Amino acid sequence: VQLSTNQTSFKSDRAQRVDHLTKIPRSVNMESLQNGYLFPEIFMRECLYAKRNPHARLIRLGIGDTTEPIPDIITSAMAKQALALSTAQGYKGYGPEQGNRELKRAIAETFYQDMQVKENEIFVSDGAQCDISRVQMLLDDSLSIAVQDPTFPAYIDSSIIVGRGGRFKAESGKYKKIVYMKCGAENNFFPNLSTTPRTDLIFFCSPNNPTGSAASQQQLKQLVEFAKANGSIIIYDAAYAAYISDESPRSIFEIPGAKEVAIEISSFSKFAGFTGVRLGWTVVPEELLYANGYPMIKDYDRIVCTCFNGASNIVQAGGLACLTPQGFQALKRTMRYYMENAKILVDTFKSVGLKVYGGKNGPYVWVQFPGLSSWQVFDQILERAAIVTVPGTGFGPAGEGYIRLSAFGHRECVLEASRRLTKLL
Ligand code: PLP
Repeated sequence: VQLSTNQTSFKSDRAQRVDHLTKIPRSVNMESLQNGYLFPEIFMRECLYAKRNPHARLIRLGIGDTTEPIPDIITSAMAKQALALSTAQGYKGYGPEQGNRELKRAIAETFYQDMQVKENEIFVSDGAQCDISRVQMLLDDSLSIAVQDPTFPAYIDSSIIVGRGGRFKAESGKYKKIVYMKCGAENNFFPNLSTTPRTDLIFFCSPNNPTGSAASQQQLKQLVEFAKANGSIIIYDAAYAAYISDESPRSIFEIPGAKEVAIEISSFSKFAGFTGVRLGWTVVPEELLYANGYPMIKDYDRIVCTCFNGASNIVQAGGLACLTPQGFQALKRTMRYYMENAKILVDTFKSVGLKVYGGKNGPYVWVQFPGLSSWQVFDQILERAAIVTVPGTGFGPAGEGYIRLSAFGHRECVLEASRRLTKLL
């Protein structure tokens, strides 16, 4: 299997064969990006497997994509809004770039009660992934960054794209200018901040993808204090917050003083099954200021108006329906279903004596396989059980020896995966 594109040979092979090259050099930042993106790589291996085993019944527990239908009350609201566009009274063109007021109010009331998050601090978007990149655009390219290790790859990749990561070092599997904060079982999935060097930006995801672990109130308090002491900003990804089942904070703004040091990004993707519908939001507090005292919210507003123009009004109608009492209740049932899947997977690995984490506050299960590399485990589970997982190293060097399984899946697939894994392991 050819795992990655060798950039030097790619350049010369192409240059020799093609007679219509432009004179535009490839961006140095894009050239620094390693291996493309994790999921295309997994998909390629999956396709090769399927070609070799055309009759195998593949079970996909790799990519964290939702599988269960969106409740009717939500899709009906979108359908109604779509049909209204065909009427003279119901037609609407551009809306406010920052999102419809009613939806912003519903987000503030549902997710930020008692946190003093104001409607004008919420910017509705087409998803968290896009917002991660918009936030990158907001901040100067020279700023230094820290990320959890392991974590969701988009923070690093989008930092590299804007030129903030430095060169990749193959020996360590790390980019030179990025601080990797180890968050493994040995430190309760939270970085040792006493040994973490100061960076300008700290990307922090809780519940974390891939470990499924949520930071506690005490841990987040430490993180906020650390950022304050260093004059840093936390970019907090709360995409899985609705899955938290214990008293862990669902927002960084539950921590007093966090509004002075944090931006929060969130999404309808995972709690409402909107991965394909596309809706998210970012909170930029008024209190968050640059070194010269200028409010960041003003620049973020400018970026949203310049680079985005607002989320679809059809989708925003769906988002509003998600946050009605009936809509939210229906979504909670689907979330419970996914978390039952997670429990089945956790119990499966526990029953064969493996160390398994997550699956309690987030829809991911993180399993350790001592003595094996993540890609070895990925390949064996694919080859011998026809199950697609994600190798832990795809989330950072500290993911070596682990795989991640997603609890998003139909129950019968998860049960079948459990049977096959029990037999294999
Ligand atoms: N943030 C995290 C931690 C994720 O795991 C994902 C998707 O898997 C995203 C953001 C992307 O979310 P969205 O679908 O809203 O772009």
